[in-house]
Amino acid sequence: MPVLRVALDLPLHRLFDYRADDATPADVGLRVRVPFGRGERIGVIVAVVEQSEWPAGQLKTAREILRDPGPLPDDFFALCEFASTYYQAPLGEVLLQALPAGLKRLSPPERRAGRPRKPPPALPEPALTEEQAAAIGQVDIDGGYSAHLLFGVTGSGKTEVYLRLIDQALQLGRQVLLLVPEINLTPQLEDRVRGRFPDRCVVSLHSELAEAARERNWRSAFAGEADLVLGTRLSVFTPLPRLGLIIVDEEHDPSFKQQDGMRYSARDVAVVRARQLAVPVLLGSATPSLESWANAQGGRYKLLTLKERANPAARLPAVHVLDTRRLTLKEGISEPLLAAIRERLARGEQSLVFLNRRGYAPVLACPACGWVSRCQRCAANLVLHLADRRLRCHHCGFENGIPRACPTCGNQDIHPYGRGTQRVEEWLQGEFPDARILRVDRDSVKSRTQWETMLERIHGGEADILVGTQMLAKGHDFPKLTLVGVLGADAALYAADWRAPERLFAQLMQVAGRAGRAELRGEVLVQTQYPDHPLFAAVASHDYPGFAATQLQEREQAGFPPYAFQAVLRAEAPAMADAVAFLELAAALPVVKAHDQVMLYDPVPMKMARLANLERGQLLAEAFSRPALQAFLPRWREAIEGLKTANKLRWHLEVDPLEL
Ligand code: ADP
Ligand code: ZN
Ligand code: ZN
Repeated sequence: MPVLRVALDLPLHRLFDYRADDATPADVGLRVRVPFGRGERIGVIVAVVEQSEWPAGQLKTAREILRDPGPLPDDFFALCEFASTYYQAPLGEVLLQALPAGLKRLSPPERRAGRPRKPPPALPEPALTEEQAAAIGQVDIDGGYSAHLLFGVTGSGKTEVYLRLIDQALQLGRQVLLLVPEINLTPQLEDRVRGRFPDRCVVSLHSELAEAARERNWRSAFAGEADLVLGTRLSVFTPLPRLGLIIVDEEHDPSFKQQDGMRYSARDVAVVRARQLAVPVLLGSATPSLESWANAQGGRYKLLTLKERANPAARLPAVHVLDTRRLTLKEGISEPLLAAIRERLARGEQSLVFLNRRGYAPVLACPACGWVSRCQRCAANLVLHLADRRLRCHHCGFENGIPRACPTCGNQDIHPYGRGTQRVEEWLQGEFPDARILRVDRDSVKSRTQWETMLERIHGGEADILVGTQMLAKGHDFPKLTLVGVLGADAALYAADWRAPERLFAQLMQVAGRAGRAELRGEVLVQTQYPDHPLFAAVASHDYPGFAATQLQEREQAGFPPYAFQAVLRAEAPAMADAVAFLELAAALPVVKAHDQVMLYDPVPMKMARLANLERGQLLAEAFSRPALQAFLPRWREAIEGLKTANKLRWHLEVDPLEL
């Protein structure tokens, strides 16, 4: 009697056996509806065997083998097995998270055919610059696995390099996977891709698609109909029978890291997938992650460099620091920055004031008694949003009205402290009453449609001053934008998080890249108390390699990644003592002593020590070799699962954490 070994989406590292009289080995990879507990579940058939380890009488019978769509292919299993092993995630969780929601439902809604998109006229190909041609020449599309880091300054024409390589792969009859950090922020890229390949089937895969559209696009990729898949991190797991090239745009972007469920890096998975399939992979960025840069320096990735902008008239912006210790600030803004904005207004050009903090003010407080607006559920303050008169937690979503008086002492004179984009916008409007100011952050732009409208307004010249967060920092061309003012950069310089400078540098380079993309030269003014900090000198000279070299040297000395390999065990419980006690037990397990190449730190509360009513602690494990860490993790995880308290609180392991 055939037995199905089924992977289910459960936090358990095991498969489940079911009887199925009519099953054959050809059914591996199909979905199956099985009884589980009192209900039913959809799982994936991982193997069909003759006999179970369990007594036949104890096995339940599978309800139905689902034959549409056809079986998931071997290379998809290989990728999911890698992710399961590497990230310590149960195979069932990995396999099922990769499927569109409709295929995981017990009673799927009826499928309807999609509307075909009508082709936009074909966009012409520009003649390549020498640097672009040289970069393209380095990639052998038909030569098996090779990994490339395309390091190109903003505006150097990285996208054109992608498009040419995509074209080569398509000519060979292959499929291409193009990963982007956040699809909503890059409608321009999607249009360019579709415009260049009007006769090809281009589909996108991201979480903002309606469920039916997502399933349709996934099926088209799976069936080999789609030629090009443009997707966010999850799409790295899309089955693609003819896959011949993977490109990761803005590879440094933290949104390639999945922060819950299976915590994986889509960029790293992309490289593994390319190696498994023996196809080329290209990672592109103006500010590569230090991990990728180190890989390129070490020869594991081939480095392709674009030093010049594609349009020679569009020079890189001049970057100056404004020493705020010597300047009077009004609402955090210095006179030289105001003067520069005034100049742009007079010339009919656009300015951008960059402040990576949304809301009106980060906190509301009472000067009389010291009350501050804290989230009741988190170790965080409630942010004041004056636009819709709310106090809001940016971590758990909790919100409240704004009190008229201090809730503790009744003082009516309570104040907002610090500033966010709303406050800067309001103040600038007072200062420049005739200017048209647009605020661009996650409060003013919530959907893709709103974002497209916003971009149209900016391009149409409907704004003189933009006040925005890093939403504005990503690959947009604003030809009339000639000034970028940066506020609030200092917090990252001396942050406890040793990755903060890397992120700040990337943000500054990206946002500076918005200035002066056309014939008008751009200027960037960075307000800081630390004008001599080497990071600003590197930004001013557009010297990513210099910055990366210093950072890598510091990390090597300190023994941080990429020179060390980390995993973190996190525990969440209503009381911190319970979380920490659990971590202490995990640290004291015999398996820890048996792996002396792995070092464990003391359990500590997380930076956000309390989130949504749970106290959070973490325990860092570190090794100087990846294999040593990888050998340790599965045994450690199994031993942790065996702890008595393991199912009394929430815990997870994260490999290669970005935030500690
Ligand atoms: P990046 O992605 O590196 O920031 P883009 O690919 O957006 O740069 O290119 C910047 C600008 O240069 C775009 O307007 C693009 O159309 C233009 N461009 C790119 N390559 C060329 C080329 N070979 N000749 C002329 N213009 C080009
Ligand atoms: Zn008070
Ligand atoms: Zn909260």
